[in-house]
Amino acid sequence: MPDILTIELRRIAEAAIERSERLPAAGLVTGDEVAFVEPPTVSFVAQAGASGGIHVRGELDAHVRLTCRRCLAEYEEGLVVPLEFRLEPGLEPGAEDEGVFALQPDGDVVDIGPIVREELLLALPDFPECRAECRGLCPSCGINLNEATCECGSSEPDPRWETLRKLRV
Ligand SMILES: [Zn+2]
Ligand SMILES: [Zn+2]
Repeated sequence: MPDILTIELRRIAEAAIERSERLPAAGLVTGDEVAFVEPPTVSFVAQAGASGGIHVRGELDAHVRLTCRRCLAEYEEGLVVPLEFRLEPGLEPGAEDEGVFALQPDGDVVDIGPIVREELLLALPDFPECRAECRGLCPSCGINLNEATCECGSSEPDPRWETLRKLRV
């Protein structure tokens, strides 16, 4: 993991740590998990808590390339991933909760990279769509209905879908 995502325990005991930097594109995720258009920026403030824990607040700004599930076209999307979590020492395995993780130092540093990575993966859309009104591909001939029309089906859209489409806008 890049150094920017490691917190030195000795330093944070003295003062809050504030960072805002671009991450090496390959530093956060492995392989082709996420296609970054440009290196993401992470900004955060980490503070020592009274209980010996660490409180991290900030955000990850990422510009990613996704594939539309309807028309299979690639498109780009900006993501702002909020980061807000606590690292607590002596947390029993299984006691981790949303936003609370076990503080597991590696020597005198703690690596928050895995948590930031997890938050990023959770922020990716489950059903990427290039736009809300994407018409997708024709199920018969495979033509991209955003770009062309075909003679396969009735040209009248099912009115039930039309209602749904209006709701989504
Ligand atoms: Zn699409
Ligand atoms: Zn067709």
